Amino acid sequence: MNKKQKHMLDTIRQEAKFTASYTGREAFDERVMQAMQVIDREAFVSGNNKALAFENSPLPIGHGQTISQPYMVALMTDLVDVTTESVVLEIGTGSGYQAAILSQLVRQVFTIEKIPELAESARQRLKSLGYENIKVRSGSGYHGWKEKAPFDAIIVTAAATHIPQSLVDQLKPGARMVIPIGLPYMYQELMLVAKGKGGTVHTDSVMGVSFVPLVMADDEASTDAAKSD
Ligand code: SAH
Repeated sequence: MNKKQKHMLDTIRQEAKFTASYTGREAFDERVMQAMQVIDREAFVSGNNKALAFENSPLPIGHGQTISQPYMVALMTDLVDVTTESVVLEIGTGSGYQAAILSQLVRQVFTIEKIPELAESARQRLKSLGYENIKVRSGSGYHGWKEKAPFDAIIVTAAATHIPQSLVDQLKPGARMVIPIGLPYMYQELMLVAKGKGGTVHTDSVMGVSFVPLVMADDEASTDAAKSD
């Protein structure tokens, strides 16, 4: 581990402590921290951003999108409580960094990216880095990935205006989802959605966050609203 990487891990540990009253977690699981150490964030950004790869901040990845700050990646990964047997869905592949972190911790990662160029470059990158338990799909993740459902965990890395019902439906009993909910480019809250063993759904707000928007087609944006009428 180089100096910059060590600094990144120390910063995550510190911020985990500072935010414990919101998250209920003083420290993240050592397996999560191990994955944050093993995966080289520098391989997921390009050009001048490589020099900033181990800073605890989001960075541009092209197409107006960003790779989340390392602390947020660790937090979201920690909150869904995965095991080595978990099958996980990510919405918003971006650079593939969050998917790579998950790949170290679970059996299989499915990830969906709306922007075809980002999906393709993430697919190439993850393949060349040798992560074999990740499948990248190009398209909208708003409706989840029905053929591969249900999932032990879902991580949504773009902000939605509401919790898509199809994603809740694709959680196994006992599974968890993290998703930023709120106004595009403004204030959002990271929501933790837990489906109980009996199927009841419990939703908690964890903290204020800022994510790029989950892009929804008009029919997607109206689907759930129509359902709740
Ligand atoms: N998890 C990524 C960062 C994600 S940024 C990483 O580790 O690098 C959010 C991503 O969500 C962007 O790449 C954006 O294009 C994508 N996105 C936005 N709306 C989407 C949708 N409806 N379905 C799938 N991906 C979407």
